[in-house]
Amino acid sequence: MAFESLSDRLSKAIRNISGQGKLTEKNMNDMLKEVRMSLLEADVNYDVVKKFVADVKEKALGQEVMESLNPSQMVVKIVHDEIQTLLGEEDAQIHFKKQGMTTIMMVGLQGTGKTTASAKIAKYCNEKLKKRVLLVACDVVRPAAIEQLQTLGKEINVEVFSLGPEVNAVETARKALDYAKDRQKDLVIFDTAGRLHIDEALMQELSDMKSFVQPDEILLTVDAMTGQDIVTVAKDFNEQLAITGLVVTKLDGDARGGGLLSVRSITQVPVLFVSNGEKVDDLEAFHPDRMADRILGMGDVMTLVEQAQERLDMDVQEKTARRMQEGIFTFNDMLDQFGQVKKMGSIQNMMKMVPGLNKLARNMDTDVVDNEMKRSEAIIQSMTPYERDHPEVLKASRKNRIAKGSGVKVADVNKLIKQLEQMQSMTRMMSSGRMPNMSALQNM
Ligand code: GDP
Repeated sequence: MAFESLSDRLSKAIRNISGQGKLTEKNMNDMLKEVRMSLLEADVNYDVVKKFVADVKEKALGQEVMESLNPSQMVVKIVHDEIQTLLGEEDAQIHFKKQGMTTIMMVGLQGTGKTTASAKIAKYCNEKLKKRVLLVACDVVRPAAIEQLQTLGKEINVEVFSLGPEVNAVETARKALDYAKDRQKDLVIFDTAGRLHIDEALMQELSDMKSFVQPDEILLTVDAMTGQDIVTVAKDFNEQLAITGLVVTKLDGDARGGGLLSVRSITQVPVLFVSNGEKVDDLEAFHPDRMADRILGMGDVMTLVEQAQERLDMDVQEKTARRMQEGIFTFNDMLDQFGQVKKMGSIQNMMKMVPGLNKLARNMDTDVVDNEMKRSEAIIQSMTPYERDHPEVLKASRKNRIAKGSGVKVADVNKLIKQLEQMQSMTRMMSSGRMPNMSALQNM
């Protein structure tokens, strides 16, 4: 996950200062030094870092802070707010026309994730904003781009317009606009050609398209893994095309984060979306405040709650919650919960968004956790429906049969039964209004 090292160092620096009740010039300078070093190491642009540290210092030395009840907490807030400012102050969004069709031109270098992002944004606007979307395949340069967009379109249930690689981009765009108007689409997204590097031919082609389409938005995809290159690329594209927003991709990789932290303040172009995986759902609207929380190791509970509301089957959750209130938790409930975790991506991704669990999540071996979950599922699936609801009947011969059926050892079956018993005892405690013992939780 991006920002790991930056997040570690920054959260340590602010923990240090917030642990010291008194704010002195010395501990503040120490913190600022650490903040400066961590930003530079994360590859944040030098001028951006210089201004950042100066701004924090000026605000922290202000009268208000010194006279506040808890000056060190105030300094932490200042650092947080300044990071948020770097990332952009407000949540930027696509500007939809009040009436008629809105058009978006997606631009970017090859491999940055432009075609994938076109489809992700189409899905987002179609499902969340209820827009009737048309995707247009205008990348007639990269051989497989049209096919890729068509495949993605099928997956997300959004129509894709293409005239094949023989027809040039402007001509395709012209026909697509007529087609979209006839069908009363709300939003048309043009996937355009990229190149490995910025060159004149690319810019000319994109400028021609821009003049013809007159898009409402020009969104540039930039790859977080390329660090400060993001800034150079965004500056060039902005000078030539006046881009209106950025989509930062591959934040699921181990990017240091400097590019994302520098680009807004240097180009003044807002980040609209971040993409954090290859799947069509791996796109988030960008919220600078939540990202600042994540960078400072404060978690991002809001995004977690939103994702849970969107992805989880609430009927299942309500049923399990009701049963747990009554003190009931069986293997069937456990199986339901495994299914729910899968819908959220992974336990690790969920934990990363919870304040305090970030580090624990990172140290988790995802493969081990995944395999453990698969093994547990296989064991439960080898039980009869009666056994799943009445685990007390699981004696030696049944356990042997289940172990054979799921290809595991009897010891693994015993371990799972033990886990269920621990869950049951916690459930009973909670239903009777007592808090479970935390050491039991840690053993789960
Ligand atoms: P384009 O040439 O800019 O259109 O790039 P593509 O959309 O074809 O993406 C290039 C590669 O990057 C593909 O393999 C995508 O699956 C992958 N990709 C795109 N976005 C992300 C992302 O956010 N995270 C990861 N890990 N891979 C991504």
